[in-house]
Amino acid sequence: MLERINNKVHLDKVSLEEVAKKFGTPCYVYSKSSIVREFIDYKEAFSECTDVKICYSVKANSNINILKTFKELGAGFDIVSLGELERLKLINADPKKIVFSGVAKSDEEILESLKYGILFFNVESQDELENINLLAAKINKVANISLRVNPDIDPKTHPYISTGLKSSKFGIAVDQALEIYKVSKNLKNVNPIGIDAHIGSQILDFQPFSDSLDRLEELFNKLRELSINIEYIDIGGGLGIKYSDDDIIPSKKDFAKRIVTKINKLKCGLVLEPGRSLVGNSGVLLTSVVYEKNNYGKDFLIVDAGMNDILRPSLYDAYHKIEKVSDCTENKKTFDIVGPICETGDVLGRDVQINNPKKGDVLVINSAGAYGHVMSSNYNSKPKAPEVLIDDGKAKLIKKRETITQILENEIIL
Ligand SMILES: *Cc1c(COP(=O)(O)O)cnc(C)c1O
Repeated sequence: MLERINNKVHLDKVSLEEVAKKFGTPCYVYSKSSIVREFIDYKEAFSECTDVKICYSVKANSNINILKTFKELGAGFDIVSLGELERLKLINADPKKIVFSGVAKSDEEILESLKYGILFFNVESQDELENINLLAAKINKVANISLRVNPDIDPKTHPYISTGLKSSKFGIAVDQALEIYKVSKNLKNVNPIGIDAHIGSQILDFQPFSDSLDRLEELFNKLRELSINIEYIDIGGGLGIKYSDDDIIPSKKDFAKRIVTKINKLKCGLVLEPGRSLVGNSGVLLTSVVYEKNNYGKDFLIVDAGMNDILRPSLYDAYHKIEKVSDCTENKKTFDIVGPICETGDVLGRDVQINNPKKGDVLVINSAGAYGHVMSSNYNSKPKAPEVLIDDGKAKLIKKRETITQILENEIIL
């Protein structure tokens, strides 16, 4: 939990200024207790569901220690690549709680997942379905599958994170899905056990989820008439979190209420794939002030973290609350907070009120636990930031800062 103690921002009672001193900046810091709390909230909210699998979406934050924390809590996982599967193998995750999503699963990804024995693949096209059947036959397995349906629903979030609209590359149109389920019945090495939809991310309204579930329910009933018995409805992830103090966040309990009644009526299992809502508010990015400048009357605060460390503001125009680690209310000035990257879009926050910033002052970029470090890059040959976990009242390094040597390692000088 973030709070000010003696006017300095602490995470779970650990001073973030001290963390910055010890590990340098930029630096990601996560709270284990907050992650645990968010997961337990989910579990409790859905406790009236007879069979629910909460499959954490690994891509939101894939540090192995975060995954281990979820595994210990009984979570399953939603993966989108072989790399994510390898992370889960390292922590001996239960394969029967793993689902595999994504539009471009490679042969290697499919074969490795079949060998590990995952719960099901969320299939995105007939082409993919036939390929999975072929590969499963090769190694004498039957692949459990679910079709990812595109319910054509507007989640009313940023267009770049809307995934359930007609115009997106994701999912299969509802009518077409029915036909592909029929095809799957005649394929020997696939077994349709699920229906899936994931309509987008940072959704702050229940209605799109409810509408999406209605479409899935219609399909579920049609499949039952064809004696295709679906064991799981997977409603994806997408629940939003509080980024701005003005955001009104739906409670997980209210969210669950709408879903659970419908699922229990259908007498099938439920799979959830939350990412952001489990980790987003459990992490921050620390950065230090480098310089201050004024261009034609506009004040800029230049910091050592940039779009290479946190891409969301540049990519989605996303808002992250930014505050000085030791702030006071007087003498505030309005700054655009910008990073070191040579791009005009390298802006972390616009019109941010900061009081008397000086070189080396630490700033806290809030709500950076999801889609933060995982989206970082080496643009401008910048090493990736370290990751620190606050666990048991101590700041523990869980990923070292990358070195320039590591960045250069794979290059071949001709
Ligand atoms: C990204 C993703 C999720 C997680 O979404 P959040 O908005 O972080 O909850 C779940 N399922 C699929 C298929 C995804 O691509």
